[in-house]
Amino acid sequence: MYDMIIIGAGPAGISMATEARSAGIDAAKILILERAAEHSFSIKKYYPDNKLVTANYKGFEAVCTGVMCLVDSSKHETISYLDRTIEANGVAARYNETVYRIDKDASAQRFTIMTDRGRYDTVVVVIAIGILGKPKKPEYRIPASLKDRVVFDVTTADIAGADVLVVGGGDSASEYCQYLVQKGNRVTLSYRRGEFSRMNDINRQSLLALEERAQVAVMRGSNIAAVSDAGGRPAVAFGEAQAEPRTFDYVVYALGGTTPRNFLKTIGIEFNGEEPEMGEAYETNVPGMFLIGDLSAGTKGGSIIWAFNSANTAMRRICRQYLPCSTAPAPAQDAAR
Ligand SMILES: Cc1cc2nc3c(=O)[nH]c(=O)nc-3n(C[C@H](O)[C@H](O)[C@H](O)COP(=O)(O)OP(=O)(O)OC[C@H]3O[C@@H](n4cnc5c(N)ncnc54)[C@H](O)[C@@H]3O)c2cc1C
Repeated sequence: MYDMIIIGAGPAGISMATEARSAGIDAAKILILERAAEHSFSIKKYYPDNKLVTANYKGFEAVCTGVMCLVDSSKHETISYLDRTIEANGVAARYNETVYRIDKDASAQRFTIMTDRGRYDTVVVVIAIGILGKPKKPEYRIPASLKDRVVFDVTTADIAGADVLVVGGGDSASEYCQYLVQKGNRVTLSYRRGEFSRMNDINRQSLLALEERAQVAVMRGSNIAAVSDAGGRPAVAFGEAQAEPRTFDYVVYALGGTTPRNFLKTIGIEFNGEEPEMGEAYETNVPGMFLIGDLSAGTKGGSIIWAFNSANTAMRRICRQYLPCSTAPAPAQDAAR
């Protein structure tokens, strides 16, 4: 019987384990279950290698309320901070293990978690699986024959010296453009709106500078109507009459992620429209079941500091309501780097 099982070993899951340890929960009573072969899989997959990981991502205030904190860092520094933290925690993480069912005992505060490799009982369950497991896809059909040419990140394929269309208007779209330009690509950005109001200042300025130097061609107010296979390359038709159809070597979508709605519903979480219902401290309608990190951030999406802080908030309630914590959850002490 565990005190706490955490599903997902990203920034939210790792900081949840750290908060629990800092509140005096025995390492042997905490377990992390992660679907991928390693922790922080979303960061490793979606961040361009030379990316600056910003503490105020998406305009969130860079203020840490819990034990973990982040300052502007490189991708490598961020991952190594998460590495060190998970190591120092002494909390067991089981990788390559997928949760498919969670049953709540009706008569006691106890969950049974079923995975493809085992079955575990716990008092509290914290779901920290993020939204990046399923990137948001466009509504039009993308031919299966283009699966290696139409991608949702910049680490899966080594894209260099190519004609690339990036689609999106947020921070990731700008970062993908910056990265692809550095790799010697000819980059076009298609964004449906006229202004880049969703980007932080650094990313907006960087993108506009690339546009000014003609290193990125920006198609503002453009909407893709269809993507077809032109001899193995994506041919893109736009909805606007003035935008000529064009063939690229790659199309990279940066549209964000989607809430894993089916999974959350299967485990009993109720939804309010598109968003899971959450009460105080990100507790769901199922007592003792919490959603943290990107899952708790709503439509705007989350950040690493948001993930860290949400774990601290949840821990405070867990200590009040469910587990015998020996210490109150501590304030921020440590940061990446
Ligand atoms: C391109 C890009 C750039 C970004 N840049 C920044 C930045 O500069 N600064 C910043 O603060 N934020 C940035 N973010 C946002 C930040 O990465 C997220 O807010 C953060 O990773 C959320 O942490 P999380 O733990 O909630 O989710 P994730 O990091 O997505 O971690 C979820 C973990 O759960 C695992 N998982 C998924 N499903 C299951 C399952 N069913 N069972 C078990 N495990 C599962 C995943 O493999 C993953 O390891 C960026 C995001 C993107 C896409």
